[in-house]
Amino acid sequence: MKKIALLGSTGSIGKQVLNIVDRYPQDFKVVSICCNKNAKLLSEQINKYKPMVAGLTTSEYAPQIISLPSQTTLYTGEKAMLHCVLQEADIIVIAVVGFCGLEPLIQACKMGKTIALANKESLISGGEIVMTLAKEHGATIIPVDSEHSAIWQCLHFDKTAPFKKIILTASGGALRSTPIEELEKVTPKIALAHPNWNMGDKITIDCATMMNKGLEVIEAMWLFNCPLDKIHVVIHPQSIIHSMVEYQDNSVIAQLGTPTMELPIQLALTYPERKPTASTPLDFYNLSLDFKKVDLKRYPCFELALKSAKTGHNIPCALSSANEEAVNLFLQGKIKYTRIADYVSYAINNVEILPVTYENLVKTNFLARELVLSAYKEKKFD
Ligand code: NDP
Ligand code: MG
Repeated sequence: MKKIALLGSTGSIGKQVLNIVDRYPQDFKVVSICCNKNAKLLSEQINKYKPMVAGLTTSEYAPQIISLPSQTTLYTGEKAMLHCVLQEADIIVIAVVGFCGLEPLIQACKMGKTIALANKESLISGGEIVMTLAKEHGATIIPVDSEHSAIWQCLHFDKTAPFKKIILTASGGALRSTPIEELEKVTPKIALAHPNWNMGDKITIDCATMMNKGLEVIEAMWLFNCPLDKIHVVIHPQSIIHSMVEYQDNSVIAQLGTPTMELPIQLALTYPERKPTASTPLDFYNLSLDFKKVDLKRYPCFELALKSAKTGHNIPCALSSANEEAVNLFLQGKIKYTRIADYVSYAINNVEILPVTYENLVKTNFLARELVLSAYKEKKFD
């Protein structure tokens, strides 16, 4: 039986992890769970899974947690998540959203754990530190992101296997067919209607802007120890091919499946085994697979991400944190969809380039957000 520590249990990925635990109760035991604010759902999860430890980052919601089982210790406040990175766990699932995933990821690496990593922002920001620590302490990072899971599968689960290039597929997001001149008027509701995947709000907006694909390029650089020029991105609207690897002989291995996160999440948990899922098998007689180039005019955020990857150091961190803040402003209806790229660009151009240390990343995360918020207050891009 694998013991699971689950950070972000109330989110889109977190809930799917728990569905898999429900499907295979003989294989998994949840030993810790945590979330940020959704204390009501956390309370239900605590009473169902009876973990050793539960965490709630925003302590003011703690009164909503009722009838704590005798075996569960509840931690609240800023460091609650770190208490959930348990020594007892066989696998740490990091499914929180944003920069906040970096500290628990570093801790899990230092503990030499097997980590199922959904939280890409931590790797974008701190990839250099994380990969060094993982190597030093013998930690294993299993990708949960569908594209990176696909690449891992195409590499026969060997992240060090030689290859010529990685081909990441991208759906193009909810606004891929919206005329460019109409993007200005797009509301959060429209941008949140992803054609193929059902995910949390932040990543759904990132898919629309293709910031997500830019972040995934950087994620792939770290996970597969791969330079930027060996990673290619192709728009594949059907999201049936989840990504591909081209080898030296030009042979391409692809991983296909219906677009559901259930596949990569379950594989991360059951690896090296594959087990039945509730997903629908592919019906090849009713499939068409299309591919096209990324239009940089439509997706300026994608280009910004690549630019930050070229600059390196703390700039991908600045990009990711500024993007979190700008997406937040858009979701609150405070800025236009098309301004997300302007705010992110402003932040990455104005953050001081610093060497990558944890302290500098914390500083960069703070400064990038401040730059976006102060630019918003000054109405810089209206
Ligand atoms: P959601 O917004 O649905 O869920 C985020 C989870 O993180 C919630 O449980 C939330 O708690 C928790 N959380 C946020 N901040 C904190 C904090 N400071 N302390 C503790 N918990 C916190 O996100 P998703 O599940 O969509 O995404 C999670 C990660 O996985 C992201 O990095 C995303 O990019 C990545 N990913 C997601 C995919 C998907 O299909 N959803 C696909 C591929 C990657 P609360 O509910 O209380 O706010
Ligand atoms: Mg993905």
